[in-house]
Amino acid sequence: MKPEEYNLEITQKYMDYINPGLTRLVAFMGFDKVEVSADGAIIRDNLGNEYIDCLGGFGVYSIGHRHPRVINALKDQLDKMAFPSKVLLNEPLALLAEKLADIAPGDLQYSFMCNSGTEATEGALKLARIKTGKPGVIYASNSFHGKTLGSLSVTDREKYQKSSRPLLPDVKVVKFDDADSLARAIDSDTACFIVEPIQGEGGIYVPSDDYLPKVRQICDDKNILLIFDEVQSGLGRAGKLFASNLWNVAPDIMTLAKALGGGIMPIGAIMGTRDVWSAFEENPLIHSSTFGGNELAARVALETLNVIIDEDLPRQSREKGEWLIPKLREIASHYDDLVTEVRGMGLFIGIEFKDDDIGNLFLSTLAARNVIVAFTLNSPKVIRIEPPLMIPMEYLETVLERIEESLKEVRTIMDSL
Ligand code: PLP
Repeated sequence: MKPEEYNLEITQKYMDYINPGLTRLVAFMGFDKVEVSADGAIIRDNLGNEYIDCLGGFGVYSIGHRHPRVINALKDQLDKMAFPSKVLLNEPLALLAEKLADIAPGDLQYSFMCNSGTEATEGALKLARIKTGKPGVIYASNSFHGKTLGSLSVTDREKYQKSSRPLLPDVKVVKFDDADSLARAIDSDTACFIVEPIQGEGGIYVPSDDYLPKVRQICDDKNILLIFDEVQSGLGRAGKLFASNLWNVAPDIMTLAKALGGGIMPIGAIMGTRDVWSAFEENPLIHSSTFGGNELAARVALETLNVIIDEDLPRQSREKGEWLIPKLREIASHYDDLVTEVRGMGLFIGIEFKDDDIGNLFLSTLAARNVIVAFTLNSPKVIRIEPPLMIPMEYLETVLERIEESLKEVRTIMDSL
């Protein structure tokens, strides 16, 4: 079968067995080809095309695709034991939890491993309620914390929430980057405030420098727990090991996922202080997960953290972002009929277009030039640039050239309409 025919066949299976609407979207963006292999910052399809990955799987591939050290750790673990007995002690889990405690901000000490970002959100909200004995949860406007029912209750997008209502009760939204609105919203029933230190799916928003320090102070003064969702912003993406390090603020509970699995295994983590973890005292099984913290995932996550630290990926991210963002702004300044803003921190970058259609057009013209990007889930007019943090500089130079060519093409198309 010719590769083109094979692509049509797989596309049809997507239509028939997975999600017809999603299949149309993928085809519109020009991604209706089958991916076959990946290394570092490169993904290849079955037609022999090589793409520069500037999406990084929505923030998963921070160490690059198929890092050899992580693959070796996985193979070694596979030869010993893949999944836990659930009763005996699991060494990779213990070592991973110790490592996380070592690198995490503030007094975060204990970890619960789960399998995804949304599960981490669910567990974090539960822990806050159990610990405080209060039901109230406050979240920030424009947030994204996942799409399972509890997480969806704190994910601020009407389009995602409305068809699944009723969601969690006792949940309130306050304005992101406005500490006073948080202070006003807290009442005697409030257990916690959950916030991304830098918003990702909302459209890559970095808060003002005084926001998180003020939020910390308010949570302390009013005696509520502070949850940082570092699922996307953490592990070097924003130029520090954790985005909250940018402002030296530590939460009571922190969630991780995405890059923690090194692009090889799904894994998430909920971390908490010793005080928060007293929630488990009365009943150590108050929260549990069959697959969470399994040997394979834990070993992979541990090696991923070692790679992030040994290769100093937070610094790489910071330096590459400091180089790339001004260059993107310079290019964008010649296209102010299309682009409204370029913003971000490290290699956590958003290009905001005038509207969703222009953003979509840009995305597909860039895909035609073999650069993979995507829009942010809450704000489709923002195209995110989130490559692997190890991406070589010459690839970033190529990406800049292709972005400029794409903007030129988008303008020509818009002018012809
Ligand atoms: N939290 C944040 C900040 C995210 O960006 C995401 C996903 O994009 C999630 C939670 C949910 O993660 P997952 O898709 O693994 O459930």
